[in-house]
Amino acid sequence: VIRCRAAVAWAVGKPLSVEEVEVSPPKAGEVRVKIVATGICRTDDHVLEGFFPNVVFPVIPGHEGAGIVESVGEGVTSVKPGDKVIPLCIPQCGACSFCLNPESNYCLKSHVSGPQNLLPDKTSRFTCKGKQVHHFLWVSTFAEYTVIPEYAVAKIDAAAPLDKVCLLGCGFPTGYGAAINIAKVKPGSTCAIFGLGGVGLSVVMGCKAAGASRIIAIDINKDKFAKAKELGATDCISPHDFKKPIQEVLTEMTGHGVDYSFEVIGDVDTLTAALASCNMNTGVCVMVGVPASGSVISINPMLLLSGRTWKGTLLGGWKMRDCIPKLVSSYLEKKFNSDVLITHTLPIAKVNEGFELLRAGK
Ligand code: NAD
Ligand code: ZN
Ligand code: ZN
Repeated sequence: VIRCRAAVAWAVGKPLSVEEVEVSPPKAGEVRVKIVATGICRTDDHVLEGFFPNVVFPVIPGHEGAGIVESVGEGVTSVKPGDKVIPLCIPQCGACSFCLNPESNYCLKSHVSGPQNLLPDKTSRFTCKGKQVHHFLWVSTFAEYTVIPEYAVAKIDAAAPLDKVCLLGCGFPTGYGAAINIAKVKPGSTCAIFGLGGVGLSVVMGCKAAGASRIIAIDINKDKFAKAKELGATDCISPHDFKKPIQEVLTEMTGHGVDYSFEVIGDVDTLTAALASCNMNTGVCVMVGVPASGSVISINPMLLLSGRTWKGTLLGGWKMRDCIPKLVSSYLEKKFNSDVLITHTLPIAKVNEGFELLRAGK
């Protein structure tokens, strides 16, 4: 058993509490990882707000990390102690019908469709003050050591800087992949991105890399515009500057609506606006933001009848165990620069300060 620090969420609406926790050794088919760095994704905040489905408290959140394998359980062959890894918040068992389908990245042996607060054998490896603490998405990267199923870690290049490539655990691949894999943005096309957090800015990078000629970035926080422009946005607009709905503004700006729209906020109103912003026939709208658990959207069905496509994505469509190591190699070859997404670096003791910065849009 390892004793180390972790940021524990004891109850909905409470700040995280940095505590000493006990982390049991990995069982068969599991890996214990020393987490070196982790990002904060808005999804972790949804957990603290109680908006994320199937979370049982107390829980150790965090799902955008990078670390080093400390020990492995019986039967683990794909990684060994000392290997650098990225924990995968969508696993890839390699054998289920979705893993065998080249179009899918939704492993059926995952936590996504059911309670994900315990490891696959329905037990936890964490305790704190004598109480069982739950896992989050099987990765719980807000702990200095965490236990993960073998098929939910990806071995990466030993040269990778862990404090940078941790972003390849969620935010960057989600946004970049939403543009490249899910929308399949074509050269010369027009795109609109609603929400310019770490994930939305990664969508901007994906649209730019795919050769979009017009990239319209939308946020109510204008402080986000400078970075969006640096990454390739051609127009930056705030819905607060217009009297009419933003979908009408975008339709006027582009003639018939954009070719591809992306909602990267997680709000039912902006989801509906993003759908109506892409052109009525060949337009594609990709939902990336995570709406509050239980939310319902009502739309005019004519929006879809005329031909629009509405799709969602988890993690940008990448088969994570196969693709994350390749993305790390592309990062090392400087094919993209995800470092621009890093605004602050804090020690674990200041994790709540990190959340304050996120909520303040900084
Ligand atoms: P973030 O909070 O950093 O960014 C959200 C941005 O949206 C902010 O800049 C905010 O100012 C802006 N915004 C809020 N309300 C707005 C409105 N009404 N109009 C325009 N802009 C508005 O969040 P993030 O970490 O970039 O994550 C974005 C979303 O993506 C979250 O919902 C997160 O849960 C989700 N997410 C989904 C996946 C997935 O696999 N689908 C993966 C990661 C994150
Ligand atoms: Zn995330
Ligand atoms: Zn699978």
